[in-house]
Amino acid sequence: MKVLIVDDSPDDISVIQARLAKENLEIFFAEDGVSGIKETKSLKPDLILLDIDMPGMTGFDVCQILKQDGELSSIPIIFLTSSNSTEDKVKGLDLGAVDYISKPFDHFELRARVRAALRTKHMQDLLTKYAQIDPLTELYNRRALMERLENEWARIHRNQGSFAFIMADVDNFKDINDSYGHVVGDEVLVKIGKTLKQECRESDFVARFGGEEFAVLCHDTNIKGAVKLAEKYREVLGNIRINETTEKLQITLSFGISDTIACKSLEDLIRKADHALYEAKTIGRDRIIAAE
Ligand code: GH3
Ligand code: MG
Ligand code: MG
Repeated sequence: MKVLIVDDSPDDISVIQARLAKENLEIFFAEDGVSGIKETKSLKPDLILLDIDMPGMTGFDVCQILKQDGELSSIPIIFLTSSNSTEDKVKGLDLGAVDYISKPFDHFELRARVRAALRTKHMQDLLTKYAQIDPLTELYNRRALMERLENEWARIHRNQGSFAFIMADVDNFKDINDSYGHVVGDEVLVKIGKTLKQECRESDFVARFGGEEFAVLCHDTNIKGAVKLAEKYREVLGNIRINETTEKLQITLSFGISDTIACKSLEDLIRKADHALYEAKTIGRDRIIAAE
């Protein structure tokens, strides 16, 4: 895990570095508030040890700025305080720090507090991850997809650009469950998820939208490009094998595709893909329909 020390005293930085040497951490440092914030943005450390008393920007100022930044606010901060003033400690904790350590450092306490903060950070990271991942397919879930869609929508409107959105639904999946049982059904979903991920670009975002519905957000792609990807999906998914003993299952999916170019809102983009998918189902399944 990465620890960033922000302290204007090179001596204090050296002491902390030496004391944490055995903890198997990557240690970085900054000697003032401004570079501390810059380092935090680029490093995304797992913990910041932040000196309160620094010339110019104080530790309190740095903490306030970091806590206002959605991307950085969850990084735990331990204040380093040379005063024994209760007021400073209370202020630091109220600003969102998880802990404080008094200078001069007690070496055992320093290490123990760092370990405790990193344990909590690790648990917090796990929870964040599990809240975004579908346990069966290990793809992103719908919550994560919606968040990514919103971010991407905002990004393309800041920087210009476009993306395409594919919705895919397994055809007659109920029959697979009914004929082979839910365990095989689950296996099919896992296999489909893996295939969707394997065949697209690294930068594309594949999610399980719900039950037997999947979605792919294709960056910097228009409808034409997304149709090509869906064609590749159809080809590869047509040859899925579940295991050596089962006969080859005939699995097909229907696809609905939209892109941001002609959409006024995110809701519009999703609705268009959904309509296209519905049309694919109505016409006869096992096909790709692109929104107008
Ligand atoms: P259509 O071609 O119209 O999409 O037909 P369908 O049978 O695929 O659609 P329907 O909505 O009737 O049924 C979806 C089925 O997917 C019913 C549900 O039990 C099954 N399903 C949803 N989630 C899971 C899952 O996690 N595992 C398994 N095995 N089945 C699931
Ligand atoms: Mg200082
Ligand atoms: Mg279905």
